[in-house]
Amino acid sequence: MDIFKGSFTQQEPLPEQAIAAAMQVLGHGRLHRYNVVAGETAEAALLEQEFAQLTGAKYCLALASGGAAMRIALRAIGVGAGDLVLSNGFTLAPVPGAIAAVGARAVFVEVTPDLTIDLVDLAQKIHASSAKTLLLSHMRGHMCDMDQLMALCGAHGVRVIEDCAHTMGAHWGGAPSGRHGLMGCYSTQTYKHINSGEGGLLISDDDQAMARAILLSGSYMLYERHLAAPEPEVFEGLKLDTPNMSSRMDNLRASILRPQLPLLAERVARWRSLYDTMAVGLKNTRGLRLTQRGASEAFVGSSFQFLMPEWGALHAQTLVARAAKRGVDLKWFGADSPMGFTSRYDHWRFAAGKALPKTDPILKSLFDMRLPLTFTLADCVLIAKILHAEIQSINQAGPDADGTLLSVD
Ligand SMILES: *Cc1c(COP(=O)(O)O)cnc(C)c1O
Repeated sequence: MDIFKGSFTQQEPLPEQAIAAAMQVLGHGRLHRYNVVAGETAEAALLEQEFAQLTGAKYCLALASGGAAMRIALRAIGVGAGDLVLSNGFTLAPVPGAIAAVGARAVFVEVTPDLTIDLVDLAQKIHASSAKTLLLSHMRGHMCDMDQLMALCGAHGVRVIEDCAHTMGAHWGGAPSGRHGLMGCYSTQTYKHINSGEGGLLISDDDQAMARAILLSGSYMLYERHLAAPEPEVFEGLKLDTPNMSSRMDNLRASILRPQLPLLAERVARWRSLYDTMAVGLKNTRGLRLTQRGASEAFVGSSFQFLMPEWGALHAQTLVARAAKRGVDLKWFGADSPMGFTSRYDHWRFAAGKALPKTDPILKSLFDMRLPLTFTLADCVLIAKILHAEIQSINQAGPDADGTLLSVD
């Protein structure tokens, strides 16, 4: 019996240049972004300038985490206590967490079997709630039709903040993910597309929103040291009214990230071949549904999802257990209580959302795997082979009617 021996959580080591850059920062000790000597430009400011260039955004701000980027973005566009914020029913806990952090209330929107926000339900919820903000999560790298979404939101005065934690390096209609909405938020946490342990980036073309974000991030009165920022005049009218929420990125993390930016395109290409290899290996598995991607979507395959729409919970749990025995770390979104990074909108009691009858069966049949770049194509062939065999074997047992798990050995 084939067993997979690799690790689903092992990312690649940092590139030599990142290690060298980090040693330099450690050597001089000026880790705080505003601690510079005469003539020196902070690593954090350079990172912002380079990421703005990479995405084509006017402005960029480096922050302590992706979650911090979303909180700061919401606050920067004026979302506050009691406001309603629309968001996908399928996302990660820091998204509703960011909404809760500004005292706002989440209105969850249904998702489609392709794991993108349901635009019909979005239109209905915009009408029913009168919410003026959408925190759109491109969860696990799945992008909805951004042209339709922006047209709908534009028509109703709904401002869009994009959560691009899984779409750094992805494009929709030729534009980088994060460039369609008013602000785009990225994470540089270890499991995302560039790695500084923790970290976040926020981009925008909007002068007022970005000036407020920079002040909120905790820039004291040193905003003139930012290179990818609005003109100082924009800050004049805001600086005494905007609280300091201390969420800065430091120079050490910025120095580690800068050398990774030029590597992003090559990483995206490798992720794509891992993803495609997995998809080919599973395309003839009975009952298994892969997500469909729009022609305008250039995605990053840093994780892999599939649905087993005909299965019940027992078969799902059997598959997770059998896959684990063979070294395949499969997550399932149908469990009653959250496990690890897998939680569901109805687990977030702090965000007490209404039921989503279309999303529930999708999440109950949804499986998820990381595809770290330490995997080879041969690894993906083997993982797909193991999953295919286990799914076929479970299928042969018929529907999971008798109330017990199938045997795991
Ligand atoms: C990781 C992630 C974030 C942000 O995470 P941080 O850990 O705060 O950097 C936001 N949204 C999604 C969908 C994520 O997976």
